[in-house]
Amino acid sequence: MNPFKFISATDSNAAIAAHHQNSRAAFLAGGTNLMDLMKEHVALPEAVIDLGRIGLKEIKETAKVVSLGALASNTFTANHSLVRKYFPLLSKAILAGASAQIRNMATNGGNLLQRTRCSYFYDISMPCNKRKPGSGCAAMEGFNRMHAIFGWSDHCVAVYPSDMAIALSAMDARIKVSSDGSQREIEMKDFHLLPGTHPEKDNSLSSGELITSIELPKNSFGKHWAYVKVRDRNSYAFALVSVAVGLQINNNIIESAKIAMGGVAHKPWRALKAEAFLKGKSATTANFIKAAAMEMAAAKPLSHNQFKIEMSKKTLVSAMEVALKG
Ligand code: SF4
Repeated sequence: MNPFKFISATDSNAAIAAHHQNSRAAFLAGGTNLMDLMKEHVALPEAVIDLGRIGLKEIKETAKVVSLGALASNTFTANHSLVRKYFPLLSKAILAGASAQIRNMATNGGNLLQRTRCSYFYDISMPCNKRKPGSGCAAMEGFNRMHAIFGWSDHCVAVYPSDMAIALSAMDARIKVSSDGSQREIEMKDFHLLPGTHPEKDNSLSSGELITSIELPKNSFGKHWAYVKVRDRNSYAFALVSVAVGLQINNNIIESAKIAMGGVAHKPWRALKAEAFLKGKSATTANFIKAAAMEMAAAKPLSHNQFKIEMSKKTLVSAMEVALKG
């Protein structure tokens, strides 16, 4: 690990100010990803700004929204009464991720900012445009079984690893961020980016912006939801494919469908074609199969992950069937 300066911020303004003084600083929340990246010499911050004392851990509600503090732990969030009451889909997705020990340390903001688990990204002897822009992509012709089937570019084929964020995507969350006295909200669909020609940039945050909370609109698909994750082993593994579904159903007619997929793209992948097809249709397995086929028709597999297309179709249908049962 390289030497770095350690700064313990006392509040969010102090943390942001410290970052403005050194654009090569990194915010430290739970540290469950940053520490690994630093130990492997993938992240080389000149300073680490510890957020442990600045608060932002509260979970609270207003009439229309539940707000998750950015520095609340994943465990606290998944088990919170408001989250369990209004967003069991989110609880399920969080608890499908990592291990209990990691969830105890990991924060909501940090979960959104975790970086890809592409093995070439972590191996500094290999070319990787995300780690070192312009160096190439070892995964393109390498072992790309875990990689993307949607939205990839010639510069990067990595996938985004979070479970929590897939549920947040289906729930149309908004991310509140703060910087230098100003605040803004970013819609979940705009927060993470596809790789394009700049895979080094995972999200739409500007340098020094700090996530302060995640805002969740109280929705009406409370009963009909599902999170289904397919992985190589049943615990402590990233998704090959995951699906978060929320259905609003009235008299067996789907009034609206919200579907997001994980393990298939550089960001949570909203299944917009499937959603559009299902709107106004009967909630039947036949329609779920058609919707899944429609969504997956545009997938572009790599040399080692053709299997993800059939796996995605089956996972989509399975998630929708679970959601229908309620
Ligand atoms: Fe790097 Fe992306 Fe290629 Fe992996 S897929 S080696 S993260 S550029």
